[in-house]
Amino acid sequence: MQVLVINSGSSSIKYQLLDPDSGEMAASGLVSRIGESVAEDATTVEHRSDGRTLEHQGAIADHAAGLRIVFDLFARSGHDPRTAGLTAVGHRVVHGGEVFYRPTLIDDSVVESISELSSLAPLHNPANVTGIESARTLLPEVPQVAVFDTAFFHGLPEAAKTYAIDAKVAAAHGIRRYGFHGTSHEYVSGRAAELLGRDPAELNQIVFHLGNGASASAIRGGRAVDTTMGLTPLEGLVMGTRSGDIDPGIVPHLVRTAGLDIDGIDNLLNRDSGIKGLSGVNDFRELFRLIDTGDEAARLAYDVYVHRLRRYLGAYLVELGRVDAIIFTAGVGENNARVRADALAGLERFGIAVDPDRNESKDRAARYISPDGSEVAVLVVPTDEELAIARAAARLVA
Ligand code: AMP
Repeated sequence: MQVLVINSGSSSIKYQLLDPDSGEMAASGLVSRIGESVAEDATTVEHRSDGRTLEHQGAIADHAAGLRIVFDLFARSGHDPRTAGLTAVGHRVVHGGEVFYRPTLIDDSVVESISELSSLAPLHNPANVTGIESARTLLPEVPQVAVFDTAFFHGLPEAAKTYAIDAKVAAAHGIRRYGFHGTSHEYVSGRAAELLGRDPAELNQIVFHLGNGASASAIRGGRAVDTTMGLTPLEGLVMGTRSGDIDPGIVPHLVRTAGLDIDGIDNLLNRDSGIKGLSGVNDFRELFRLIDTGDEAARLAYDVYVHRLRRYLGAYLVELGRVDAIIFTAGVGENNARVRADALAGLERFGIAVDPDRNESKDRAARYISPDGSEVAVLVVPTDEELAIARAAARLVA
């Protein structure tokens, strides 16, 4: 069985061809700089298969052209999805709004609904639609499944998903907390339950998905009861380039005093804030290089980041009342021992501790970093959104 997983961004397509049962990957790749004018020898597609990397150079006009090149590279590497008897194509879709709360078989009306949700995710949903339409054209016989980033949070309690603004305005414009990174939160919390040898229905968990985008969630009995991202992926934790929580009063203040318009504010909060806004760099490896040279702005950026993590940790400890596991995942969460140690420092009285040797280990597998016998298991669980999407798509088609 093989599923092709497609994750279309505004100017990129990430993809994997994999077996949803074993997780074995036959091929993967990245199309980048779609729609940009690039040098003739600029590499725009990298396709990895059987230990080899095939490349394509030159401009890619649009997503459809990108996918056609990908399919040619697939054919050259002996894994043509058009003849491989694919079980399904699984598409990552960012915003499912109120409409979609589980993996959904794609037809014309589903594409239309995803497109209509673009006002809630203007950077993401249009790109997702383009990817879906291209894949449907290239693989008309293969079932296509949409897996939504918001789905895991669809059942948030009313108190957690409601903004305290005029209820009529909120209802008219779909304003509520939706949450994002749901596929990852669901996947790693499920893996954590396996690692603990417990039924997810018995567990209270807190997940920190710390990548370039970052979010946390509180999960009771396998269901999310709170999360840090809201109407858009801007709320909550400090991120690589996004501010996370700010006083909403900052927005009108900037309009009045700095003369910023909506696009200027959008740019400021989404692209020029967070770790980058405070330190000038958004990659954590560079941030630590700066901190180690005594850069004060970088130090402050890190302190603000950790302060926000601990604030939500405290909130979720209280919301859940009892916590069985705290899980770190994604680029920073999986690789950065210092963030994990600082986020959980001094919480022994809550049953939370980190074993320094386990925390520093370079082991790539899902693992404990708390000492044996800890009341709260602290785990590092590598996320695998592609595998989760492939499995969801295969389950639906079956
Ligand atoms: P993601 O969005 O999940 O790919 O995460 C990107 C972030 O993870 C960047 O800030 C990277 O600096 C960080 N990251 C990725 N790999 C490592 C690593 N090996 N060590 C430290 N940080 C890493």
